[in-house]
Amino acid sequence: MWDFIIIGGGILGMSTAMQLQKAYPEKRLLVLEKESGPAQHQTGHNSGVIHAGVYYTPGSLKARFCLEGNRATREFCDQHGVAYTTCGKLLVATNALETERMRALWERTAANGLEREWLSGEALKEREPHIRGEAGIFVPSSGIVDYAEVTRAMAAEFESLGGSIRYGVKVTGLEERRAEVVISTTQDTFSSRYLVTCAGLMADRVIRMLGQDPGFTICPFRGEYYRLPSHHDQIVNHLIYPIPDPAMPFLGVHLTRMIDGSVTVGPNAVLALKREGYRKQDMSLRDMGGMFTHPGVLKVLGRHLKPGLGEMKNSLYKRGYLELVRKYCPRLTLEDLLPYPAGVRAQAVSRQGRLMDDFVFVNTRRTVNVGNAPSPAATSALPIGAHITRQVMALLSQ
Ligand SMILES: Cc1cc2nc3c(=O)[nH]c(=O)nc-3n(C[C@H](O)[C@H](O)[C@H](O)COP(=O)(O)OP(=O)(O)OC[C@H]3O[C@@H](n4cnc5c(N)ncnc54)[C@H](O)[C@@H]3O)c2cc1C
Repeated sequence: MWDFIIIGGGILGMSTAMQLQKAYPEKRLLVLEKESGPAQHQTGHNSGVIHAGVYYTPGSLKARFCLEGNRATREFCDQHGVAYTTCGKLLVATNALETERMRALWERTAANGLEREWLSGEALKEREPHIRGEAGIFVPSSGIVDYAEVTRAMAAEFESLGGSIRYGVKVTGLEERRAEVVISTTQDTFSSRYLVTCAGLMADRVIRMLGQDPGFTICPFRGEYYRLPSHHDQIVNHLIYPIPDPAMPFLGVHLTRMIDGSVTVGPNAVLALKREGYRKQDMSLRDMGGMFTHPGVLKVLGRHLKPGLGEMKNSLYKRGYLELVRKYCPRLTLEDLLPYPAGVRAQAVSRQGRLMDDFVFVNTRRTVNVGNAPSPAATSALPIGAHITRQVMALLSQ
């Protein structure tokens, strides 16, 4: 019998495992991950940005955990020898409407307690000679890191504290009993006093295995990137972000300096026809059936039809994608967009057709389950792991 089993070897599962093992050094902990190593899904396919917390609704878990996570991630990297750079982020307004929207963001960043600087068009040009804009906001605390490396460091720390990890073990069934949770897998059957699930793109399915209706479904959105050729490695000094439309805050491709020195463009947001499908042609009848019969997903698709079709068009038509970035970086040409692997975001959609914005947890008597953990959950992984640890402590004291 295990004391705690954690499902999922992404950054949230490993952060939780590490912090739970620290809180309970005598207890037996096990992480179960279906892939052959850690961080093979969202955690290993993202932009690698240590977000500062610009966009999030004041008072939300996202706003709080992102701000805490920004500092905690950098501290963790210092302690574990993981490379990161605090390169800062520049939000760039290219016309009057965007400048107006940027003023609203400026207010929000004040409410979230962020250090930032308003830049005139001239000051912007001085900082970023290749970027064109009317004005900008500079946020110095944004940074970059390889989250797969952070996750590997968390896994190593967890194991050094006495925790166990089993890769290549897919959880297929869960049964919560009076004094234990029984976990059926493709390998063995396990029994644990408490269970934590951090299953990312499979979060809703794992919660349903417990006989719970989470009230939402996970909708996968592919985020496609391009990489710039190496002669453009110095094209920007900071991370460059467009000003989002407040109705579609997750749309807008950015220029991202990566920790290996390269620069990527992206990601867009295209409805994926397979939850863990990284290529355009990937499809799953099960995943499509679940999505296209869900009343909430149908409402979301109906409501966002025009921008959704626009994203699809630009996914298939490289010139359209290029125009998104040329708005603020006119120097780039079609030849500059080189292939780069895509990621798939897990986005919870409620039955009522709401794209759930904040982090969501679903708890039962013996389990804590991460339901919705979109960006900036990688930045927020340490505070989220601490939050889950507190929730487990509360279950133990019941
Ligand atoms: C394109 C993109 C860009 C992003 N950019 C950023 C960014 O710049 N900064 C930021 O902070 N966040 C970013 N994010 C968000 C961030 O990557 C995710 O929020 C975070 O990685 C979620 O971590 P996770 O552990 O919940 O999920 P995952 O990393 O997806 O891990 C879940 C794990 O659970 C395992 N699993 C699922 N079902 C089972 C089962 N039945 N049995 C066993 N194992 C199972 C999976 O194999 C997987 O390894 C981005 C995400 C994407 C997709």
